[in-house]
Amino acid sequence: MHKIFKYRIYPSKAQQALLQSTFGCCRFVYNKMLDIRKTAYDTDKTRLSKFACINRMTALKTEYVWLYDVPAVCLVQAVCNMDAAYQNFFKSGKGYPKFKSKHRSRKSCKFMVPKCAVLQDISRLKLSKLGLVKYKKDREFVGALRHIVVTQDSDGKYYASCLVVTGVDAPKLQPVDASTAVGIDLGLKDFIVTSDGCKISNPRFYVTIDRRIARLQKHEARKTKGSKRRARIRMKINKLCVRKRNLIKNYIYHVANTLLRESQTLVMEDLNIGGMVKNHKLAKSIQNVCWGELRRVLEYKSKWLGHNLIFIDRWAPSTRTCSCCGFKNDALTLSDRSWACPGCGTHHDRDINAALNIKRMGLAKVLPAVSGFDGRGEVGYGLDEASICASY
Ligand SMILES: [Zn+2]
Repeated sequence: MHKIFKYRIYPSKAQQALLQSTFGCCRFVYNKMLDIRKTAYDTDKTRLSKFACINRMTALKTEYVWLYDVPAVCLVQAVCNMDAAYQNFFKSGKGYPKFKSKHRSRKSCKFMVPKCAVLQDISRLKLSKLGLVKYKKDREFVGALRHIVVTQDSDGKYYASCLVVTGVDAPKLQPVDASTAVGIDLGLKDFIVTSDGCKISNPRFYVTIDRRIARLQKHEARKTKGSKRRARIRMKINKLCVRKRNLIKNYIYHVANTLLRESQTLVMEDLNIGGMVKNHKLAKSIQNVCWGELRRVLEYKSKWLGHNLIFIDRWAPSTRTCSCCGFKNDALTLSDRSWACPGCGTHHDRDINAALNIKRMGLAKVLPAVSGFDGRGEVGYGLDEASICASY
């Protein structure tokens, strides 16, 4: 099983300078090779392979001698990244590779084994040309290191992400058991509502941070472009943005861990988040609730644990259908938070009813024997909103 361990690193002044030029050279090589490949195809439809691009590195280095000053392994990896962007474009329908920007793109460089190592006994990373770099060993790992990606966050801190092959296989997928399955409805008012009737409210702790960011952005706009004062305010904004991101991430990990601890099968809607964000009225609230991040965390953690994660069709009528008799209430509007079923007379909470339907639809997908409409006979989860929010 592959796992990534991310550590904060503390490079010295000289190492920071070298890292900065490495980030710059990687970006330069990425853009240059993308340009060469693009021009080759545009002029005579030649498709340059990854190795053809890597072979051109020697010529590039003689033309731009300063490329010799940075670790060669990082430059080759920059070419590989450019090729990967092309492969994503061809295979998975992602967009055409873009040029990297000095100001907007993430600063990163990749070291492959044996040009890097983690010396856990002395808490140092060994990186080609950089030497020994101090890191914060908050946890140890067992396994074989594959590569290290060094990045710099927008707040100026450096991190190293180490890809490790743990040598332990992922547990076998457990069979789906209807009694331990739970349906999850994602919402804007409540972050998630489960089919057990448990509601977890949206995190609101970042509202003050948002206000501070808005105020600083006003200050920033009044300063001259390129000035030191403007850069100082920009750094303050970046620090707040990183803080907000970390708070939300922490919250999501709490929620995901609780959900996975309590149930062995989770059913979710396969939401088109990119499409929903295009609705300008809801865009900010949707981006703030980070459903995509929750989905990403649930996907990889369920694999680690051997739990089942089932997605149902995004167009399935989970909200409009009565979870008791299957009546489809087409008169339901977005503002109706609760409704009574005209078919069987049951009174429904909008979100809990949707979560129950999601659970039923997900189980029907994998267990054909499950049909009909189950009631709410199950006991609650113990997913305690107060305990999740307590850490803030
Ligand atoms: Zn009904």
